[in-house]
Amino acid sequence: MPEAPDTQPQIDPSIQTLDAVVIGAGFAGLYQLYRLRGMGLSARVYESGTDVGGTWYWNRYPGAACDVESVLYSYSFSKELEQEWSWSERYARQPEILRYAQFVADRFDLRKDIQFRTRVNSAVFDESTDRWLITTNHGERVSAKYCVMATGCLSAAKDVDIPGLEQYKGKTYFTARWPHEAVDFSGQRVGVIGTGSSGIQSIPIIAEQAKHLTVFQRTPNYSIPARNGPMTAAQQQHVKDNYAELRTRQYNHYIGLVGGIEAVPTLTTSALEVSPEERQREYEYRWGLGGLYYYTCYADLYSNLEANETLAEFVRGKIREKVRDPKTADLLCPKDYPFGTKRLCADSGYYETYNRDNVSLVDIKTTPIETFTANGLKVGDQEYALDAIVFATGFDAMTGALFNIDIRGRDGVALKDKWAAGPYTYLGLMTAGFPNMFITTGPGSPSVLYNMIIGNEMHVNWISDAIDYLEKDDRRTIEPTPEAEKAWVDHVNEVGETTLFVQTNSWYVGANVPGKPRVILPYLGGFDVYCQKCDDVVAKDYEGFVTA
Ligand code: NAP
Repeated sequence: MPEAPDTQPQIDPSIQTLDAVVIGAGFAGLYQLYRLRGMGLSARVYESGTDVGGTWYWNRYPGAACDVESVLYSYSFSKELEQEWSWSERYARQPEILRYAQFVADRFDLRKDIQFRTRVNSAVFDESTDRWLITTNHGERVSAKYCVMATGCLSAAKDVDIPGLEQYKGKTYFTARWPHEAVDFSGQRVGVIGTGSSGIQSIPIIAEQAKHLTVFQRTPNYSIPARNGPMTAAQQQHVKDNYAELRTRQYNHYIGLVGGIEAVPTLTTSALEVSPEERQREYEYRWGLGGLYYYTCYADLYSNLEANETLAEFVRGKIREKVRDPKTADLLCPKDYPFGTKRLCADSGYYETYNRDNVSLVDIKTTPIETFTANGLKVGDQEYALDAIVFATGFDAMTGALFNIDIRGRDGVALKDKWAAGPYTYLGLMTAGFPNMFITTGPGSPSVLYNMIIGNEMHVNWISDAIDYLEKDDRRTIEPTPEAEKAWVDHVNEVGETTLFVQTNSWYVGANVPGKPRVILPYLGGFDVYCQKCDDVVAKDYEGFVTA
């Protein structure tokens, strides 16, 4: 849960006037502030945490790390920054990424325009002035011409949707809101609910501490060994010497996974065109590479079920090899959805953890958790006594953080109401009827299917250029036309339908949150194609937008 503010910011009771308000001091918000300042505009960032870093500020659970290589998962906007910062490992862990965000904030002197411990309650467009009125939980009111929602795709933790938590007397932890002080599970009976990326990263470390760890698994995930390790000085230098070329490859790729220290090829052939032996060699090669490189393997893996099944079965074979107890191994093998259509996980010793004597796996798909009790939780007739429960149960992805703010556009229309049947955006950047409100990596953009730092950087550049265009041309507003928006939403859905992603119950389609409309949230057409589209729109004088 968010930290209670210990010092209240000084509040000016009158309505303050700024050019722009940015909500969120994660990687999008930080860079947006830098760009706004560079244009000579007044701006303030509001952030509910006590420091910068967004995701990497909140998700401090044991084992938290990024599964995109550190040299790729970093800003590209400053060549000096690229040279000054050195990543210590192939995959950076949460503390190092947080230090990087802090370094950037200090390096570019950003903190003086960030107000921490402040939650934005509402953002309301005033048609009489063409400005946004933003109010905070401290009662502060700001009038701004531009409002940038840098609120993050995976920042609103999902509510606990299992009954009886109020009865439970033990300790509870949420991976998405992990305490700042160290948590020691030594000697404790610990339960983890959730086996997505967060669960899979934290389980091996919690198992090393706990007296006994019980993992409550609803859906098994496919996980690939991360094969993390230190970066040598020579590797660091090599990347720094070749950053420009690396960035070019990264930008021109549909998912940005091009290899950090060494290039990793992207295949364009079908998995079904090659012999079983060749396929096996390729799958072994990528298993050895570690990480997410099955997303750049055969071209039809995510559109053809038969192709996908060849890889799914390969990975199931690996799980069976690693896990000694055949019943546990079988439970850990995903069988009822295509490989990679729930976000693929990268782990360090996840499957091996189930070979420990102090770890057990409980299937809660067949028999769900009925309720929490004073001492633990009940699954069917069995009660599990637990000293601590860890919730790795995920997020209300891509729309949750936006809906936590009362956002109202023209005619007082609430964003929540406009998007009741699913998000409606043009390019994932703006939504009709909400002029001058920009969303970074919003629904309908590649967002979570690309590299979040570079994807955010690209969006901030686009937004900043649009703002610059309005300022230089003395215009008041920009917003999409309903027609352009509808055409884009139709396109996002059509592209989604050509893939296997839409078949799976995942947060990509909102299926993890009870009652959420089932709509494909990210754009699956690829980052390279998407960037071209965004550039074309600008080249055609902001085609599909109206400016006034
Ligand atoms: P998640 O992938 O949504 O996983 C949540 C887990 O909790 C799932 O196993 C889910 O089961 C389970 N769950 C949810 N509600 C439940 C309930 N009521 N009863 C039983 N089980 C329940 O969430 P996450 O692990 O936090 O990851 C979210 C995303 O964050 C990732 O997909 C990734 O994009 C990002 N992330 C990235 C990294 C990284 O390395 N870069 C690390 C962590 C997270 P079902 O599958 O059955 O719903």
